[in-house]
Amino acid sequence: MKKRNIALLGSTGSIGTQALEVVWAFPDLLEVSVLTAAKNVDLLIAQALAFHPQFVVLMDETQGDKLKEGLLGTGIAVLLGEDALVEVVQHEPIDIVLNAIVGSAGLRPTVKAISCGKDIALANKETLVVAGEVIMPLVEKHGVKMLPVDSEHSAIFQCLAGEEQNPIEKIYLTASGGPFRGKDIAFLETVTKEQALKHPNWSMGAKITIDSASLMNKGLEVIEAKWLFDLDVEQIDVIVHPQSIIHSIVQFQDGSMKAQLGLPDMKLPIQHALTYPLRQPNTFERFNFLDYPTLTFERANHDVFRNLELAYEALRQGGDRPCVLNAANEIAVDAFLRDEISFLGMSKLIEATMCQLSSIKQPSLDDLIAVDQQTRVVARSLIRGIG
Ligand code: NAD
Ligand code: MG
Repeated sequence: MKKRNIALLGSTGSIGTQALEVVWAFPDLLEVSVLTAAKNVDLLIAQALAFHPQFVVLMDETQGDKLKEGLLGTGIAVLLGEDALVEVVQHEPIDIVLNAIVGSAGLRPTVKAISCGKDIALANKETLVVAGEVIMPLVEKHGVKMLPVDSEHSAIFQCLAGEEQNPIEKIYLTASGGPFRGKDIAFLETVTKEQALKHPNWSMGAKITIDSASLMNKGLEVIEAKWLFDLDVEQIDVIVHPQSIIHSIVQFQDGSMKAQLGLPDMKLPIQHALTYPLRQPNTFERFNFLDYPTLTFERANHDVFRNLELAYEALRQGGDRPCVLNAANEIAVDAFLRDEISFLGMSKLIEATMCQLSSIKQPSLDDLIAVDQQTRVVARSLIRGIG
């Protein structure tokens, strides 16, 4: 394999730091030329000193001097702000952009990278939730690869290898069920953010951890899967699988099913995307069947976990609805983490916001960027009335 040059967006996050572990494990195959962060300047400096990228980008311009000082004499170029984050992906040596930013902030860099002919390794599911209808034709037009990093979608992608002639009948996205699996509404009324932040199987950033507890993460993944694999909403099912060993399943038209299994470790899908189509030997921990004698499955409860139903509903309605759902959810999660609304208040806020905004049937990219911003304003204005 020819050495691949990576722009790693969101390098200081959970996916970002694990991606750097993967890069570290394959010094002859992978190198990074771009590292970016929102605020964590100390970690960004440490990463830059270890990996020697060409560019670092920091969103928080007030810490620009500290970053420049930390990298003085290294020859690493320091860029600041959102426009720099978008522009930096176009540089010539970059082969693949690993987007590990959280939230719809990841959308514009993804669009730019595709337009510049870069392959995409996508952790930032919000990109496809907000604008899948615009992104996928762009991927086609520029002939780039869209490689999923989300573990469920990586699983489906891996199951589809060699099946180009065989239509999918259905996919099953597996869900751990999160920390509140099996609980009822009365229980959810009282849960705290500390409880919601404790995920049983995965260690992740705060936003996706809350999304996993509310099942919004699975809802966003249903929408992500629709665009990645060109499916109708009826072809996408969610099945709760608490052990998180089966990462997802494809069912073909003869009824045969293929699943992808492994320990819940994001380094595996990250490596798969970065070294695709090759599987490079590594020393990451192996699965042992005898540690998991029982793999179990349950129905996902759409009544208790209303966010999952809201996501299906947004997907059925189409147009700008998934974009509104996503932006309202970003505000709802933020408000929950600030103790401004309750756990169940998140679904109420999302639903109330979706009701307030009239829908656009065939939005352009610019429409979606505007709707994203507008939704945030509306959702913030509704927080006080939700509680
Ligand atoms: P995180 O919060 O740990 O990290 C987010 C990264 O994005 C950080 O580097 C942060 O500095 C940067 N960032 C945050 N806001 C930004 C902004 N407005 N502009 C630019 N950069 C910004 O999040 P994470 O858990 O690593 O998740 C990243 C993405 O990957 C999310 O879309 C998430 O849904 C997806 N994902 C994560 C996991 C996981 O295991 N963590 C698994 C599957 C998918
Ligand atoms: Mg996932």
